[in-house]
Amino acid sequence: MKRVAILGATGSIGTSTLDLLEAASERFEVTAVTASSNVAELAAIARRTRASLAVIADESRLSELREALSGSNIQAAAGGEALAEAAVSADLVIAAIVGTAGLAPVMAAVRAGKTIGLANKEALVSAGALMIEEARRTGAVLLPIDSEHNAIFQCLAGQDCGQVSRLILTASGGPFRTWSAEEMARATAAEAVAHPNWSMGAKISVDSATMMNKGLELIEAHHLFALPEERIDILVHPQSVIHSLVEYADGSMLAQLGSPDMRVPIGHILAYPERMATGARRLDLLEVARLDFEAPDPVRFPALRLAREALRRGGAGPLTLNAANEVAVEAFLAGAIHFGDIASHVEEQLTRMDKPLPASIDDVLALDAEVRRATRAQLGTGAPSC
Ligand code: NAD
Ligand code: MG
Repeated sequence: MKRVAILGATGSIGTSTLDLLEAASERFEVTAVTASSNVAELAAIARRTRASLAVIADESRLSELREALSGSNIQAAAGGEALAEAAVSADLVIAAIVGTAGLAPVMAAVRAGKTIGLANKEALVSAGALMIEEARRTGAVLLPIDSEHNAIFQCLAGQDCGQVSRLILTASGGPFRTWSAEEMARATAAEAVAHPNWSMGAKISVDSATMMNKGLELIEAHHLFALPEERIDILVHPQSVIHSLVEYADGSMLAQLGSPDMRVPIGHILAYPERMATGARRLDLLEVARLDFEAPDPVRFPALRLAREALRRGGAGPLTLNAANEVAVEAFLAGAIHFGDIASHVEEQLTRMDKPLPASIDDVLALDAEVRRATRAQLGTGAPSC
């Protein structure tokens, strides 16, 4: 039995993870499940999976959670310390909280030397080298769930990147791949979250529409595979069949293919180093018939340039890029700013920031909060503290 904890169990990745775990319940034991504020759904998941611990991030909901779990022997808890407790309760923790809200629990798992199935890319983008160094020190293992990084991990087949000349991250191009700059500037939130190939949470869907998602993934790949930014390329591939590629020193290219269903990379990580059934639709290459590729358009998708700049600049650049983006995306989803303004707000913050990467996770979180306040002030949406 593999013991698994799921951080962000009520989300899109959390739900796909639960589908897989429940279909293979003889192989897995769920130790803990967590959610932001949806008590009813969290309690139902905890009962269904017979988890020992259910954690709600919103501390004001603890008594509600206790009530929802009454009569069961599932422990109810709330807040940051309890999230960290959930993160260290298993052998494998699935990090599926969205945004830097997931950083502290992921770091708790890293400090405890756990194996982490990482979907929460924002945590790695913000903490960067701090997380990688801590993992090296404790022996924690970061296994990528993000489909591109999972594809690369599969293509590397246990080798390090010594023989690799280049990584190629594929991108669907999102819902606005063929839209004009004028149409994109006026795009609504409903249009931005309508992804052509993948069904995902709202924040990552908007990131796919701006292509900031690929920018964050570039930084994620740099940390996971220890390759410099200039050896990581981005290629638009609208069918989302090839999930990424590795080019080796001898000119060989290896790719991983599959239908666009997150159960495939999640299942790969849950069963690793074995394999498990995922229920994903088999890829029918005759039906796919053709695979198209395009260069990303730097004018309509400035987020890619911003992410490269943030990474080249180093220090707190990636953290700033991510924090400003989280606030701008939230504001766009709330109807407070236009789609076309997301990247300009991020660029503005990036231009102002010239700090080094903080030396501790507490300092990372403090600087993250500072960038958020500055971005909110710039957006004119007030500057509530985080
Ligand atoms: P989602 O919005 O569907 O779910 C987010 C989860 O995090 C929920 O369980 C929510 O309750 C929890 N959460 C939100 N805010 C929280 C907070 N402040 N404290 C504690 N918990 C909180 O998001 P998602 O699409 O499942 O994405 C999760 C992560 O996985 C993101 O980092 C995303 O980039 C990454 N990812 C997602 C996909 C996908 O297909 N959805 C693919 C690759 C990577
Ligand atoms: Mg991805």
